Amino acid sequence: MAANPAISDLDLLAFLDELLPGVRAAEIERQLRDSPALQQRAAILLRRRDQGGHTLGEIWRRRRLSCPSRGQMSDYLNGVAEPGFAAYLEFHVHDIGCAPCAANLDDLRRVQTDTTDRRTREKKFFDSSAGRLRKPPT
Ligand SMILES: [Zn+2]
Repeated sequence: MAANPAISDLDLLAFLDELLPGVRAAEIERQLRDSPALQQRAAILLRRRDQGGHTLGEIWRRRRLSCPSRGQMSDYLNGVAEPGFAAYLEFHVHDIGCAPCAANLDDLRRVQTDTTDRRTREKKFFDSSAGRLRKPPT
């Protein structure tokens, strides 16, 4: 017996349409976080429905479904995120198209690059002036 009750396409669609009771919706959201396979199915369903003129992606974007925190994204950029989180973030940003998270991620990347650049500049500066500056504090 699987730990997680199976989720049908209908369940997923109902979830995306916000037609499920809270407990079931929370359960599906939890499983979505944990299961790349389920994320893929949801992404396919979303695309199919969006092509039909529905705007399920919009609904998800509006709800900001399971937006990760900046801390989690920062862990991801630093390569220390928990296993499976990278796949979830990809799904969240690319398939759901969560604009706030994409912006957050860009922002964090820029901060990270700036910090790296600054450290490099500082190191160069200290390396080049180390000889001249080596003077015991008085
Ligand atoms: Zn988001």
